[in-house]
Amino acid sequence: MSGSVGDITVIAQEVRGCTRCGLHTGRVRAVPGEGPADAKIMLIGEGPGYHEDRQGRPFVGPSGQFLDELLAIAGLRRSDVFIANVVKCRPPQNRDPQPDEISTCTELYLYRQIALIDPAVIVTLGRFSMNLFLPGARIMRDHGKPQWVNGRLIVPMIHPAAALHRPENRPLIEADFERLPAILAEAEAERSTPADPSNDEEPPLEQLSLF
Ligand code: SF4
Repeated sequence: MSGSVGDITVIAQEVRGCTRCGLHTGRVRAVPGEGPADAKIMLIGEGPGYHEDRQGRPFVGPSGQFLDELLAIAGLRRSDVFIANVVKCRPPQNRDPQPDEISTCTELYLYRQIALIDPAVIVTLGRFSMNLFLPGARIMRDHGKPQWVNGRLIVPMIHPAAALHRPENRPLIEADFERLPAILAEAEAERSTPADPSNDEEPPLEQLSLF
C-alpha cells in the first residue's frame, strides 16, 4: 500500500494523464472512478466499456442503468457509493485486461483509492475484480458470499453486463444486492468493536464465510 495515498481528486488527475501501460493508446478518456471519498461501500468493476470510455465515467451504459436499479434494491443511490474499475482505460474491443495491465493500474491507483476511502465493504463486479481480493474464488460458486480480507468484507458479485446478457443471472445478482444492507451492517458492527489484543485473526463470521 502506498505510504502517501493522496487526495481522491489528485488520484483522478493522475489517472486522466496516465500513460503507464499500453491501454492508454486506445482510450478516448480514462475513467478514474467517482463517488464520495468516505463511502462505506466501494463497487469495483473490470474496466471501462464503450460508453464509459467516451464519457470518462464508470458504468454509464446499459450495465450502468442496471447497476442503478440494483443499488435501488439495496436502498442505495449512486451518490452513496464509490464506483471504480480494476483498469482505468478501456481495453481494445473490450478484451480481457492483461495481467501486466492489471498489476500496473491497481498498484498505481486502485489500491490507493481503497486505502484513502477505507470502505467497510467492497463489492467486486465480475471475476477480474473478485480475483484481486479472492484469488481462489469462482464467480458462479461464490457470488454473494462475503469474505473478510484486510479488515473489510469483500462481496463477489456477477458483473451487471453478464446479468444483462444472460437473463438467468438476473435474479442471482438482484438477490445478492438485496443482502447488501445486512452485509454492510455486519461489517460496520465488526469494525466498531474494539479489537481483542489476544486475537489478531480476522473475525470468523461463519454464516457469511465463503468456505
Ligand atoms: Fe494508466 Fe491504468 Fe490507463 Fe494503464 S489502464 S494507462 S495504468 S490509467
